[in-house]
Amino acid sequence: MTRTQVVIVGAGPSGLLLSQLLDREGIATIVLERQAQRYVEARIRAGLLEQGTVDLLIEAGVGERLQRECLVHDGFEMAFEGRVHRIDLKGLAGKQVTIYGQTEIQKDLGDARLAAGSDLRYEASNVAIHDFGGARPRVTFIHQGRPQELECDFVAGCDGYHGVCRASVPADAVRTYERVYPFGWLGIIANVRPVAHELVYANHERGFALCSMRSSGRVRYYVQCPLEDKVEDWSDDRFWDELARRLPAEHATRIQTGPSVEKSIAPLRSFVAEPMRFGRLLLAGDAAHIVPPTGAKGLNLAVSDVFYLHEALRDFYRERAERPLEEYSGRCLRRIWKAERFSWWMTQQLHRFPGDAFAARMQETELQYLFESVAAQTSLAENYVGLPLEYSHDSRRTHAAA
Ligand SMILES: Cc1cc2nc3c(=O)[nH]c(=O)nc-3n(C[C@H](O)[C@H](O)[C@H](O)COP(=O)(O)OP(=O)(O)OC[C@H]3O[C@@H](n4cnc5c(N)ncnc54)[C@H](O)[C@@H]3O)c2cc1C
Repeated sequence: MTRTQVVIVGAGPSGLLLSQLLDREGIATIVLERQAQRYVEARIRAGLLEQGTVDLLIEAGVGERLQRECLVHDGFEMAFEGRVHRIDLKGLAGKQVTIYGQTEIQKDLGDARLAAGSDLRYEASNVAIHDFGGARPRVTFIHQGRPQELECDFVAGCDGYHGVCRASVPADAVRTYERVYPFGWLGIIANVRPVAHELVYANHERGFALCSMRSSGRVRYYVQCPLEDKVEDWSDDRFWDELARRLPAEHATRIQTGPSVEKSIAPLRSFVAEPMRFGRLLLAGDAAHIVPPTGAKGLNLAVSDVFYLHEALRDFYRERAERPLEEYSGRCLRRIWKAERFSWWMTQQLHRFPGDAFAARMQETELQYLFESVAAQTSLAENYVGLPLEYSHDSRRTHAAA
């Protein structure tokens, strides 16, 4: 049986970043991933990074291409009832946001891990975790056709919403909170010029629309759609027509159309599992929580969990300190619930919820108030750019010295 210090289940952004950060602390990891590397690196997902996420990626040694290729935005636009209002993130919250695709982060992390010679096992099937209530957890799996077993000090469950780690916890040890929204997002990627320099969110009577981007020549656009819709129902032409109807005229006339290179429908969900630590099993990222993408928080939350987790494990190995491990779940969850609230609020304000006239009037009033009140815009901006991380005493010293 092979022994290592930390077995990480999942090679998404959480798993690879944790492996990268622990490696820099001299802590040995083995990463087990169900999918092939090429599949993981091709998944189209997030693309908007908080400053804290960018800082941590740079600190982890994977920020070089990001800094070269990213777009930096000082604000974004919100359109409602014929009015377009710009939220000045930099002016109101003193921070910017960064556009850089999750696919690129995944590649940067994958390259860094392979260059460091790390033990990363793609296409590992039947992963099962055992004995995480004690001091010697084990992980069994099949890799390259052979059953294998690892013994470790800790298991990091970075295996996303459908992973095996959270599912292995006894039902009475975990409490879950969930809201499923009655619509989805139809998203496309196309290699065309964005309608605007910054993101444009639109709340239109036909439904929500978002014009985002991955670079100055690649757009990521979304429209709210019924949950029952299938991708095949949406030709490219139908998508472009619908997007144009939902955008304000000044943006609609600037739409550059082209063939979609990716098209998918994603359901929207809010989900939190508490706690995030079960003995020697620690969950991070989508394994513990999901947010609707309206507030662009999913990837950023995954990164902040990993920051807290690497600190807790670092302190354990440096000083045998148990307290950061005990505090891990609480530190993460304080930030997670605030991001859940913000993502729920953004979703609530920007989508159409058919059949609820009172809710529609509340939404209208909320958006009018937002456009008129600098205080309300400041609150939005503060949450959008990302709430600050809680630093442990030790890392605060490190940051102060830097
Ligand atoms: C369509 C879509 C759009 C999104 N848009 C945004 C956005 O605009 N902004 C934003 O901030 N966030 C967005 N997100 C969320 C963001 O992508 C996730 O929060 C992020 O990927 C979380 O990273 P993770 O590593 O925790 O989980 P994941 O990326 O889900 O990675 C988990 C990994 O674990 C692997 N795995 C699962 N089960 C097993 C198993 N049994 N054994 C081994 N490996 C396993 C999976 O294959 C996967 O590689 C979006 C997500 C989706 C799906």
